[in-house]
Amino acid sequence: MNPSQTQPQPQTAEPQRAEPQRAASQPQPVIVRPLARVIPSQPTSDGAGVRLRRSIGAHPGARVDPFLMLDEFSSEDAADYIAGFPAHPHRGFETVTYMLDGHMRHEDHLGNRGHLTPGSVQWMTAGRGIIHSEMPEQESGRMRGFQLWVNLPARLKMQPPWYRDIAPAELPVVALPAGGSIRVIAGEIDMAGVRHTGPIAGPRFADSTDPQVWDLILPAGGSFSHGLPAGHQGFIYLYEGEARVGEDPGSRVLPAHAAGVLGDGNAVRITAGLQGLRALLIAGRPLREPVAQYGPFVMNTQDELRQALADLHAGRLALPAD
Ligand code: MN
Repeated sequence: MNPSQTQPQPQTAEPQRAEPQRAASQPQPVIVRPLARVIPSQPTSDGAGVRLRRSIGAHPGARVDPFLMLDEFSSEDAADYIAGFPAHPHRGFETVTYMLDGHMRHEDHLGNRGHLTPGSVQWMTAGRGIIHSEMPEQESGRMRGFQLWVNLPARLKMQPPWYRDIAPAELPVVALPAGGSIRVIAGEIDMAGVRHTGPIAGPRFADSTDPQVWDLILPAGGSFSHGLPAGHQGFIYLYEGEARVGEDPGSRVLPAHAAGVLGDGNAVRITAGLQGLRALLIAGRPLREPVAQYGPFVMNTQDELRQALADLHAGRLALPAD
């Protein structure tokens, strides 16, 4: 049915906002998300003394629902990373480790053993509880990468733990028409009419936060534009080079080693400066639930945190697989 034959078009001087209930047969106007807020990273240490930069999650006001934390680690000095993250628990959310350089070893109470190599990803759903270690498997050289924490909705926090090691070759690498490339870790991108789906996608993730995690490389002066669902919240973490975020006029500079939180809209646009750039684009469906966090436990209420601690001390947090 052609709506113009059945409904008079409203005569109004103001542009019409897209209305989802009638959008199916009409192209959506592209609304590029502005850079709404910059969350700088702060030097900190975690685990047994690993030095890192924390942007998202540096304090409770620095979360971007559903994302709880983003750490960047980068050092050539083994003293900054050699202590690693000895055995520790998690409950109630997902951890994502993305390695750029160096080697780490993961072991957990379920018997999973993973070797994180340069370019690989580990996606772990802690669910009701996991105890794991994340230790460097090198005594010198460069160690560089990220850890992202993704929250789970209340109804999925106590699901059995789940774990996947993703080899570098499993990540689609999509060449951009004007130079540069994008690596799809989670979610999917459309480029010239072709859909590229990352290894983290499908009903399991559509049912939680529909995470989109893309690693972008742009040459000097290059730019990248892509749709991003209007209901998602997200940010860009610039880890090399210079960037402007948003559409001109009105684009803003995003400093390096900072998370640029995206404002409202249904598309994202990022443009590189004279040095080119490397950046993570991360977005997901917000949960809009209360967040109660105590270190590695992220639940909805203080009672649930007390239960997590009681379960840990009683040896019930990390149970054998079903
Ligand atoms: Mn951990």
